Amino acid sequence: SSLTDLVLTHIREVPDFPEPCVLFRDITPLLADGKAFRELIKGLADFYRGRIDSVAGLESRGFILAAPLAVELGIGMITIRKAGKLPGAVFGVDYALEYGTARMEVHPEIVKDGDRVLIIDDVLATGGTARAAIDLVEHSGGEATALCMLLELADLNGRKKLEGYTVDSVVVYE
Ligand code: 5GP
Repeated sequence: SSLTDLVLTHIREVPDFPEPCVLFRDITPLLADGKAFRELIKGLADFYRGRIDSVAGLESRGFILAAPLAVELGIGMITIRKAGKLPGAVFGVDYALEYGTARMEVHPEIVKDGDRVLIIDDVLATGGTARAAIDLVEHSGGEATALCMLLELADLNGRKKLEGYTVDSVVVYE
Protein backbone atom coordinates (compact mmCIF):
# COMPACT_ATOMS: atom_id res chain seq x y z
CA SER A 1 0.00 0.00 0.00
CA SER A 2 1.04 3.65 -0.13
CA LEU A 3 1.56 3.68 3.65
CA THR A 4 3.95 0.75 3.30
CA ASP A 5 6.00 2.65 0.72
CA LEU A 6 5.87 5.79 2.81
CA VAL A 7 7.34 4.04 5.87
CA LEU A 8 9.78 1.90 3.89
CA THR A 9 11.35 4.93 2.23
CA HIS A 10 11.84 6.81 5.52
CA ILE A 11 13.55 4.15 7.62
CA ARG A 12 17.29 4.21 8.25
CA GLU A 13 19.12 0.96 8.90
CA VAL A 14 21.92 1.24 11.45
CA PRO A 15 24.32 -1.73 11.71
CA ASP A 16 25.73 -2.77 15.10
CA PHE A 17 23.30 -0.75 17.22
CA PRO A 18 22.74 -0.96 20.15
CA GLU A 19 25.26 -3.81 20.10
CA PRO A 20 27.37 -5.72 17.56
CA CYS A 21 25.50 -7.76 14.92
CA VAL A 22 22.15 -6.03 15.50
CA LEU A 23 20.67 -4.13 12.54
CA PHE A 24 18.63 -1.34 14.12
CA ARG A 25 15.69 0.15 12.24
CA ASP A 26 15.61 3.87 12.95
CA ILE A 27 12.30 5.71 12.48
CA THR A 28 13.66 9.21 13.21
CA PRO A 29 13.87 10.18 9.49
CA LEU A 30 10.15 9.46 9.19
CA LEU A 31 9.35 11.64 12.20
CA ALA A 32 11.59 14.43 10.88
CA ASP A 33 9.67 14.59 7.58
CA GLY A 34 6.58 16.57 8.52
CA LYS A 35 4.63 15.64 5.41
CA ALA A 36 5.38 11.92 5.71
CA PHE A 37 4.66 11.85 9.46
CA ARG A 38 1.34 13.58 8.94
CA GLU A 39 0.42 11.27 6.06
CA LEU A 40 1.23 8.24 8.22
CA ILE A 41 -0.95 9.41 11.10
CA LYS A 42 -3.82 10.33 8.74
CA GLY A 43 -3.56 6.92 7.08
CA LEU A 44 -3.62 5.08 10.39
CA ALA A 45 -6.54 7.21 11.58
CA ASP A 46 -8.53 6.37 8.43
CA PHE A 47 -7.81 2.67 8.97
CA TYR A 48 -8.90 2.56 12.63
CA ARG A 49 -11.62 5.25 12.75
CA GLY A 50 -14.78 3.93 14.41
CA ARG A 51 -13.16 0.62 15.39
CA ILE A 52 -11.32 1.60 18.58
CA ASP A 53 -12.07 3.53 21.77
CA SER A 54 -8.52 4.32 22.87
CA VAL A 55 -4.89 4.01 21.79
CA ALA A 56 -2.22 2.48 24.05
CA GLY A 57 1.32 3.64 23.26
CA LEU A 58 4.32 1.61 24.40
CA GLU A 59 7.22 3.59 25.86
CA SER A 60 9.09 5.22 24.26
CA ARG A 61 8.62 5.29 20.50
CA GLY A 62 5.06 4.01 20.71
CA PHE A 63 4.17 7.26 22.51
CA ILE A 64 5.27 9.27 19.47
CA LEU A 65 2.76 7.41 17.32
CA ALA A 66 -0.06 6.97 19.83
CA ALA A 67 -0.44 10.62 20.82
CA PRO A 68 -1.07 12.14 17.38
CA LEU A 69 -3.26 9.20 16.38
CA ALA A 70 -5.42 9.62 19.49
CA VAL A 71 -5.75 13.36 18.84
CA GLU A 72 -6.62 12.78 15.17
CA LEU A 73 -9.35 10.32 16.19
CA GLY A 74 -10.57 12.35 19.16
CA ILE A 75 -10.05 9.45 21.57
CA GLY A 76 -7.87 8.94 24.63
CA MET A 77 -4.30 7.72 24.86
CA ILE A 78 -3.12 5.15 27.40
CA THR A 79 0.56 5.19 28.39
CA ILE A 80 2.12 1.78 28.94
CA ARG A 81 5.45 2.48 30.61
CA LYS A 82 8.63 0.85 31.74
CA ALA A 83 8.85 -0.09 35.42
CA GLY A 84 8.87 2.68 37.98
CA LYS A 85 7.82 5.58 35.73
CA LEU A 86 4.08 5.83 36.43
CA PRO A 87 3.05 7.45 39.72
CA GLY A 88 0.65 5.86 42.18
CA ALA A 89 -0.91 2.42 42.00
CA VAL A 90 0.02 0.45 38.90
CA PHE A 91 -0.47 -3.00 37.47
CA GLY A 92 2.69 -4.56 36.02
CA VAL A 93 3.70 -7.50 33.86
CA ASP A 94 7.20 -9.01 33.77
CA TYR A 95 8.43 -10.59 30.58
CA ALA A 96 11.56 -12.29 29.30
CA LEU A 97 14.14 -10.58 27.13
CA GLU A 98 16.97 -12.35 25.32
CA TYR A 99 19.12 -11.60 28.37
CA GLY A 100 17.19 -10.92 31.58
CA THR A 101 13.70 -9.58 32.08
CA ALA A 102 11.75 -6.36 31.68
CA ARG A 103 8.54 -5.00 33.15
CA MET A 104 5.80 -2.79 31.72
CA GLU A 105 3.17 -1.02 33.81
CA VAL A 106 -0.19 0.71 33.39
CA HIS A 107 -2.74 2.57 35.48
CA PRO A 108 -5.50 -0.05 35.25
CA GLU A 109 -8.33 2.38 36.07
CA ILE A 110 -7.75 4.49 32.95
CA VAL A 111 -8.79 1.54 30.76
CA LYS A 112 -12.59 1.49 30.74
CA ASP A 113 -14.33 -1.88 30.94
CA GLY A 114 -14.89 -3.24 27.46
CA ASP A 115 -12.84 -0.50 25.79
CA ARG A 116 -11.60 -1.47 22.34
CA VAL A 117 -7.91 -0.66 22.67
CA LEU A 118 -5.38 -0.33 19.85
CA ILE A 119 -1.82 -1.13 21.02
CA ILE A 120 0.79 0.71 18.98
CA ASP A 121 4.60 0.60 18.80
CA ASP A 122 7.32 1.22 16.23
CA VAL A 123 8.83 -2.26 15.95
CA LEU A 124 7.61 -5.82 16.56
CA ALA A 125 10.73 -7.90 17.28
CA THR A 126 10.43 -10.95 19.56
CA GLY A 127 6.92 -9.89 20.60
CA GLY A 128 7.60 -9.85 24.35
CA THR A 129 6.77 -6.17 24.74
CA ALA A 130 3.56 -6.43 22.71
CA ARG A 131 2.49 -9.54 24.59
CA ALA A 132 2.99 -7.74 27.92
CA ALA A 133 0.89 -4.86 26.60
CA ILE A 134 -1.97 -7.20 25.71
CA ASP A 135 -1.88 -8.67 29.22
CA LEU A 136 -1.92 -5.19 30.77
CA VAL A 137 -4.87 -4.05 28.68
CA GLU A 138 -6.88 -7.21 29.32
CA HIS A 139 -6.12 -7.24 33.05
CA SER A 140 -7.40 -3.66 33.17
CA GLY A 141 -10.73 -4.71 31.64
CA GLY A 142 -10.06 -3.61 28.06
CA GLU A 143 -10.13 -5.54 24.82
CA ALA A 144 -6.90 -5.71 22.79
CA THR A 145 -8.71 -5.09 19.52
CA ALA A 146 -5.60 -4.78 17.36
CA LEU A 147 -1.86 -4.20 17.48
CA CYS A 148 -0.32 -1.74 15.05
CA MET A 149 3.42 -1.97 14.37
CA LEU A 150 5.23 0.23 11.88
CA LEU A 151 7.84 -2.47 11.29
CA GLU A 152 7.71 -6.21 11.88
CA LEU A 153 10.95 -8.22 11.96
CA ALA A 154 9.40 -11.48 10.81
CA ASP A 155 12.38 -13.75 11.42
CA LEU A 156 12.12 -13.09 15.18
CA ASN A 157 8.66 -14.72 15.20
CA GLY A 158 7.02 -12.07 17.36
CA ARG A 159 3.66 -12.81 15.75
CA LYS A 160 3.73 -16.26 17.33
CA LYS A 161 3.44 -14.74 20.80
CA LEU A 162 0.42 -12.78 19.60
CA GLU A 163 -1.61 -15.64 18.19
CA GLY A 164 -5.35 -14.95 18.17
CA TYR A 165 -4.83 -11.19 17.96
CA THR A 166 -4.97 -8.87 14.98
CA VAL A 167 -1.48 -7.60 14.15
CA ASP A 168 -1.35 -4.84 11.53
CA SER A 169 2.25 -4.24 10.45
CA VAL A 170 2.80 -1.43 7.99
CA VAL A 171 6.12 -2.92 6.79
CA VAL A 172 7.18 -6.55 7.23
CA TYR A 173 10.88 -7.39 6.86
CA GLU A 174 11.04 -11.08 5.88
P1 5GP B 1 10.35 -7.13 21.38
O1 5GP B 1 9.78 -7.10 22.75
O2 5GP B 1 9.29 -7.38 20.32
O3 5GP B 1 11.50 -8.06 21.25
O4 5GP B 1 10.99 -5.73 21.09
C1 5GP B 1 10.20 -4.66 20.71
C2 5GP B 1 10.65 -3.40 21.38
O5 5GP B 1 12.03 -3.17 21.14
C3 5GP B 1 9.88 -2.24 20.81
O6 5GP B 1 9.43 -1.41 21.86
C4 5GP B 1 10.86 -1.54 19.90
O7 5GP B 1 10.77 -0.14 20.05
C5 5GP B 1 12.23 -2.04 20.31
N1 5GP B 1 13.03 -2.46 19.14
C6 5GP B 1 13.56 -3.69 18.90
N2 5GP B 1 14.27 -3.69 17.77
C7 5GP B 1 14.18 -2.45 17.26
C8 5GP B 1 14.70 -1.82 16.05
O8 5GP B 1 15.40 -2.40 15.21
N3 5GP B 1 14.36 -0.51 15.88
C9 5GP B 1 13.59 0.16 16.75
N4 5GP B 1 13.29 1.44 16.47
N5 5GP B 1 13.10 -0.40 17.88
C10 5GP B 1 13.39 -1.68 18.13
